[in-house]
Amino acid sequence: MTNILIRYGELTLKGQNKKLFITKLIRNIKVKLNYFKDKIEYIKDTKSLIISLNDSNQLDKVLGILKNIFGIYSLSVIEVVNNNEEEILAKTLEIAKNLTPGTFKIEVKRVEKSFKIGSQELKILIASNILTHTNHLKVNVKEPDHLINVVLKKMGTQIFIDRIKGLKGLPVGTSGTALSLLSGGIDSPVASFLSMKRGLTVSYIHFMTPPHTSEKALDKVFKLVEKLQKYNTNDFQFFVCDFSDILTELMHIKNESYRITIMRRMFVKIANIICQQNSFNCLLTGESLGQVASQTIESINTINCVSNLPIIRPLITMDKEEIIDISKSIDTYETSILPFDDVCSMYVPKSPVTKPKIFVAENQEEGLLLNELIKHTINNKIKTYVWKDGELVEKEKS
Ligand code: ATP
Ligand code: MG
Repeated sequence: MTNILIRYGELTLKGQNKKLFITKLIRNIKVKLNYFKDKIEYIKDTKSLIISLNDSNQLDKVLGILKNIFGIYSLSVIEVVNNNEEEILAKTLEIAKNLTPGTFKIEVKRVEKSFKIGSQELKILIASNILTHTNHLKVNVKEPDHLINVVLKKMGTQIFIDRIKGLKGLPVGTSGTALSLLSGGIDSPVASFLSMKRGLTVSYIHFMTPPHTSEKALDKVFKLVEKLQKYNTNDFQFFVCDFSDILTELMHIKNESYRITIMRRMFVKIANIICQQNSFNCLLTGESLGQVASQTIESINTINCVSNLPIIRPLITMDKEEIIDISKSIDTYETSILPFDDVCSMYVPKSPVTKPKIFVAENQEEGLLLNELIKHTINNKIKTYVWKDGELVEKEKS
């Protein structure tokens, strides 16, 4: 039997909501570990959860999954013994014997106060026992190579060495739902990840314009959704919108420099309707201030004003380098840089407006059949995918 201790971290600060958050976190963990369900037992403690795994060969896989779940502060593989001196001494010695040569320190915490030996005394007992029966370890209380932690609790004494960092943040699903405008680029997957970190369940919408954009560009977005799935909950949707009819209509815009701005306004309008239909709480994009012409504050304003819902922009103040670092750490970078355009390059103007004005955008849209085409696109040109048995499958129409 291998035991993993999961610490909740920030959640413990949440007062009233604490119970709700912990319940959600445990549910998220159970869903992600569903494959191992016959091998796992869950034991709840006040500030932590213990996962008892009866197949130690699966330990690395289980830890790998847990490391990607938001709301987990840290993890330790622990040994559990009864609250008695002999068992504690024996187990700590066994652990010490397996350590690489160097220095160590013992840390004792008595959550269960009824234990008859004090912390200080127990520390000395454990350390002398180790020093007597090994010859590759020395004590160093300031900068030890190995820290052996002993925590006495009512349910037993927990002994562990390493604390593995969790992703922290809030459990996905505790802050509501967002619809992420997902291109095939570097930024929007990172923005999606960061929104999950603050507890949003993230659904996605991708706009494609076949035949101008290739099948490969779409494959890339599917891949990104799959890669992000280890952080998300399973109850999300992925909308793929064929935007071609609207794009063709937008070719009639007189002021070419407004094309991108107006295309983005259409994206946001469609996304708003999808949100309404599915009761999503907000939109989210990968915009970063000043990164490209369409990401000035004037441009953001001209696009923003067609939205009835808040648009979350987690990357707004980030440098590209910071975004790339996150993208690499969440394993979306290599997919994002594959060279397939997500917007028809024919459509992109030579010099897009950098400081668009709302009234100019509105004027340009006048006389075009945009509202009708939006309706038509929503009703006929969107395919919806859901996550089922570990893959994206098209949702049956209800
Ligand atoms: P990204 O790296 O996310 O593609 P970007 O730096 O290329 O971003 P833009 O092309 O200006 O920036 O796009 C800004 C945001 O608009 C994107 O982050 C994304 O949220 C949204 N977006 C752009 N193109 C699409 C698309 N084809 N489908 C869905 N959303 C899109
Ligand atoms: Mg892009």
